[in-house]
Amino acid sequence: MINKNVFRNLSYGVYVISTMDGDKPTGCVANSVMQITSAPATFAVSMNHDNYTNACIQKSGKFSVSILTEQSDQGLIGIFGFQSGKDINKFENVEKLEKEGLSIVADSCGYIVCKVIDKMETNTHTVFLGEVIAADALKEGNPMTYAYYHNVVKGKSPKNAPTYVEETVEVPKEGKWVCSVCGYEYKGELPFEEVPEEFVCPLCKQPKSKFELR
Ligand code: FE
Repeated sequence: MINKNVFRNLSYGVYVISTMDGDKPTGCVANSVMQITSAPATFAVSMNHDNYTNACIQKSGKFSVSILTEQSDQGLIGIFGFQSGKDINKFENVEKLEKEGLSIVADSCGYIVCKVIDKMETNTHTVFLGEVIAADALKEGNPMTYAYYHNVVKGKSPKNAPTYVEETVEVPKEGKWVCSVCGYEYKGELPFEEVPEEFVCPLCKQPKSKFELR
């Protein structure tokens, strides 16, 4: 048997992977980043073929990793994790730094910029191997783990994430209003029914209509 739930016991971080789409910065959230060697320093990142960021890394030959923390604005995950850079400039309203020609999320505890030196194709994902050309620490904060994102932020994995696990268990309804796109649970003081129609999910910026009672 293969019980995919056990995969959730592996430790991952939560990162914004960014690159350039021509002269427009773009990027997405990933948790599959790992250091491969130390001298020279190399890192691997796994990226779904359907993520626009994948095609842009292939073209630009560079990517950066911004390391999110538990204190980072959770809206970053909504902007970078649940929207496509094909349609919008994800960095438009995000505080950023420019390093080696790439945009870095300033609200993070550090960044790593890599140039692609190799890649491996799988059925669904490209594994990019990058050599580090710049890296530094930014804000103080506890690096966010994927478990923290699931358990505390109550976030879901987008379907494109390598760590996506299909929910197979029927959960009894508990009267919670949950964003059907990202899994954010509404916890405001106002009963959800009375929340203004202009309300958007703080995590993924989807409208109130995307919330469902669970
Ligand atoms: Fe949401």
